[in-house]
Amino acid sequence: MNLPNALIQSLQNVKGFDEDAFREVHQSGTQIVSIRFNPAKVDNRITNNEQLQQVPWNMNGYYLPQRPSFTLDPLFHAGAYYVQEASSMFLEEALKQTVDLTKPLKVLDLCAAPGGKSTLIQSVISKKSLLVSNEVIKSRVNILAENIIKWGAANVIVTNNDPSDFKRLQNYFDVIVVDAPCSGSGLFRKDPDAISEWSENNVQLCAQRQQRILADIMPALKDGGVLIYSTCSYSQQEDEAIADWLIETFKVESLQLKVDSVWGIVETISNKEKAYGYRFYPDKVKGEGFFIAAFKKQSSGININNEGESNALASLKPKAKNKKDAVTANEIEVLKSYLISVDDFFFIKQNEEVIAIPIHFEDDLAIIKSALYIKKAGVKLGSIIRSELIPAHDLAVSNIINNNLPTLNVDKETALQYLRKVEIVIETNLKGWVLLTHQQSTGCCTLPIGWIKVMANRSNNYYPKEWRILNK
Ligand code: SAM
Repeated sequence: MNLPNALIQSLQNVKGFDEDAFREVHQSGTQIVSIRFNPAKVDNRITNNEQLQQVPWNMNGYYLPQRPSFTLDPLFHAGAYYVQEASSMFLEEALKQTVDLTKPLKVLDLCAAPGGKSTLIQSVISKKSLLVSNEVIKSRVNILAENIIKWGAANVIVTNNDPSDFKRLQNYFDVIVVDAPCSGSGLFRKDPDAISEWSENNVQLCAQRQQRILADIMPALKDGGVLIYSTCSYSQQEDEAIADWLIETFKVESLQLKVDSVWGIVETISNKEKAYGYRFYPDKVKGEGFFIAAFKKQSSGININNEGESNALASLKPKAKNKKDAVTANEIEVLKSYLISVDDFFFIKQNEEVIAIPIHFEDDLAIIKSALYIKKAGVKLGSIIRSELIPAHDLAVSNIINNNLPTLNVDKETALQYLRKVEIVIETNLKGWVLLTHQQSTGCCTLPIGWIKVMANRSNNYYPKEWRILNK
């Protein structure tokens, strides 16, 4: 693996950089595979029994001995876990150490696709907290929405906006996570092709873009709120220098994090403002290259002049409810048997489909709707036609579905046929809508994978066609 000389030179005096060990770990070809279980779907005690090695800084993170075919694991499609690089799972520690996660919080994950950090954040915040998971690039929002749907939580809103759009939500978020687009040197081991795209010039361009993104988003952070900034780049320009720039430009203070010395994470202190940063080198941790730093916004906002932010939060009046969007009492009656509790939600209709949103987010949804483009909110339940719910896939894999619905547990091969969206042959006395479930052979957990409709002599497969697996 030919690491860029300019990168190696630029790291010579950076704390924790050990050229020989760094080169060796890149040459070794070692690949590390880690997953993070979904605590809302998988019982942690069961995972522990499998004697997988735990990621030291994440309660739900585990290393796998080798890379299986995730595509051929029905529980992957059921949202039992997310395949995530281990170093970046440190976000859990950063949040736990800097934020009171028991409080009802408004959290923004600004650069969210494909959803690794968002699913992590959702697992550590309380049910009364709201996560806004945003991705600016339109073509990447679908995969983000898909991963959020599979994760199953109702307290997430997926948006598709430029960071500058968030100026309309001044002082709104308690926590903002910026997992910034970067030059990507931290992922060279996983993706050697990225080496040819690396250049000093690109590092500079990335640093400028990171500043723009942060300048756009800072007004949306409440006074006293926490900003978590991370990259998968080793370059100081994108890491410690950004921390310096943040402190010089905004009224923020750097937050120190506790790291266990056996974890191998290197604490750095920036040149100018003495900000704390945390570096992950693959020769020191069992994970890829990563940088993370936490900041607290001090009172009375920002230092720089922000023009064009006249759309203050107060002016974002929730629009009057559209009659067409209203869900009738009869329709709610139909929904009752499908949900753990209808009382926990309010319901809206969009293109004839009913969506369930946790009741305490009614105002927030209205505010966010008037400021941003919402790709998805809450859990889509399906459409109600002549007092029958045609249930949506989102409901099947959600955490709000009633556990007492008719289910049929199928073996792995049948589950995979279902996920390929071919007709499956099953023997059952059940009729109508049936939730197909699958249990892993190790007995880990039984999870819904989707709906079928059982008729007199066949059953229809309702797996979303755009998600079907193509792998034979
Ligand atoms: N947080 C994600 C996760 O854990 O799965 C990974 C995010 S990736 C490092 C950075 C993201 O920033 C990408 O999804 C990219 O599309 C997005 N991005 C690119 N340019 C951006 C910009 N100018 N403003 C905000 N986000 C941008």
